[in-house]
Amino acid sequence: MPKIKKRILTGDRPTGSLHLGHYVGSLKNRVKLQDEYESYIIIADVQALTTHWEKGESLYDSVMQITSDYLAAGLDPNKATIFIQSMIPEIHELTMYFSMFTSVNVLRHNPTIKTEAAQHGFKDMTYGFLGYPVSQAADITIFKADLVPVGEDQIPHIEFTRKIVRRFNELYAPVLVEPEIIVGEIPRLIGLDGQAKMSKSLNNAIFLADPPEVVNQKVWNAVTDPARIRKNDPGHPEVCTVFTYHQVFNSAEVPEIEQDCRQGNIGCVACKKNLASKINELLAPMHERRKNYSISDIKDILKTGTAKAHEVAIETMQEVREAMKIDYFKQ
Ligand code: SF4
Repeated sequence: MPKIKKRILTGDRPTGSLHLGHYVGSLKNRVKLQDEYESYIIIADVQALTTHWEKGESLYDSVMQITSDYLAAGLDPNKATIFIQSMIPEIHELTMYFSMFTSVNVLRHNPTIKTEAAQHGFKDMTYGFLGYPVSQAADITIFKADLVPVGEDQIPHIEFTRKIVRRFNELYAPVLVEPEIIVGEIPRLIGLDGQAKMSKSLNNAIFLADPPEVVNQKVWNAVTDPARIRKNDPGHPEVCTVFTYHQVFNSAEVPEIEQDCRQGNIGCVACKKNLASKINELLAPMHERRKNYSISDIKDILKTGTAKAHEVAIETMQEVREAMKIDYFKQ
């Protein structure tokens, strides 16, 4: 399938609903990029199994939920191709070929793998987990992605993909594309409890599907400056989670809020109500868009996207097999 524009590949592991951290960190950018690039969005369910292998039955709900979140956030299935990783067997075939010339030691020393293994408490890593950067390299290269937008922590994986492409092209024939990295400019959104990361597992997240009353309650419980007891105590916005969120979701009012907080001219209750209303304004059009898609529509979108992605994968694998001289019946 010839490229019309430059192609990007992005995606997520389906491990639950998407939250504001996902939105500001990647989803918002993806919505913008879908007009500029041919966008392929992978729902990496096989990759989810590398850490949640015993929870296969929850993948169905997660895949439906994440697709619903994508559509709610503004991804347009007429522009972006949303597809399911496990339903494209050629990705797994390419993973296997890449694994033939990938050193186990290189994987073991990958900094992201080491950090994630520690986070999951893996002392003895499984074959699947250790090898997931190889599978990710296959995800990217099978679609001949020109660009991959990622956060800082994913850079080693994309560098690894680039190395694999160079190695493959040297070993066999130059059929694969070495992807460029686009690093997201927006830092990670902290959790409502002030922890470094917003995360479902830390129970400190506002989900894109949260209705206004839930958002109000969550913002009400967010951590603020502990030194402020009374409304007119001088505040320290630099230590306040609510202020950090104002910087992201209400930037126009930040100078005024900062000054009022420092001078004790604004109470935390009013400040939180203001923030909750800004977040609800952001989520309102998402709730409206979400209503447009039934489960059956979501499945149709996934079927169409997966069929289109599959066609591209089949074409690339024909070139890969030819390059490797394993297209036996064509020779
Ligand atoms: S007034 Fe706002 S910025 Fe200041 S401590 Fe309270 S919630 Fe935080």
